[in-house]
Amino acid sequence: MKQYEIDTAGSEETAQFAEKLAKLLQPGDVLTLEGDLGAGKTTFTKGIAKGLEIKRNVNSPTFTIIKEYHGRLPLYHMDVYRLEDSLEDLGFDEYFEGEGVTVVEWAHFIEEQLPADRLDIFLYHEGEQRRKMVFIPNGNRYEQLCKEIFS
Ligand code: ADP
Ligand code: MG
Repeated sequence: MKQYEIDTAGSEETAQFAEKLAKLLQPGDVLTLEGDLGAGKTTFTKGIAKGLEIKRNVNSPTFTIIKEYHGRLPLYHMDVYRLEDSLEDLGFDEYFEGEGVTVVEWAHFIEEQLPADRLDIFLYHEGEQRRKMVFIPNGNRYEQLCKEIFS
């Protein structure tokens, strides 16, 4: 399976990369974010929001599970950590198939409910300020997207 990697040297760089990616996103795109607490999932999402021209501050939706923002496209920001493996279905499909971009933090907790086609992003601590980001595209749309962003 093809995967793409990039290291960042601080939160600004992580957000900037996400911002660049966001400019290429289309309605119905789904991104998953995996990584330990503090790996940078929400930082990455803030960059996505900026790239989608969202003015409101994006913060971790841990207590609400899903937050919706409006910009060039809607952003559906999910943090499903609190669901753990409960398999609770909160009608995620409506978001995945909606007009916006969905970003799911801790996506493996709702693995069964995720669409097959999506961009999986893994963040790893490499140091205080350094992170490794690994992008795994699933499906043609995301393979093209990765090729473009990493070209
Ligand atoms: P998560 O949502 O994965 O729990 P957050 O994005 O909320 O993580 O927090 C990441 C923390 O790590 C922030 O305090 C951020 O400033 C810090 N940080 C340091 N270096 C980086 C980096 N290269 N990329 C992203 N965040 C970083
Ligand atoms: Mg978070």
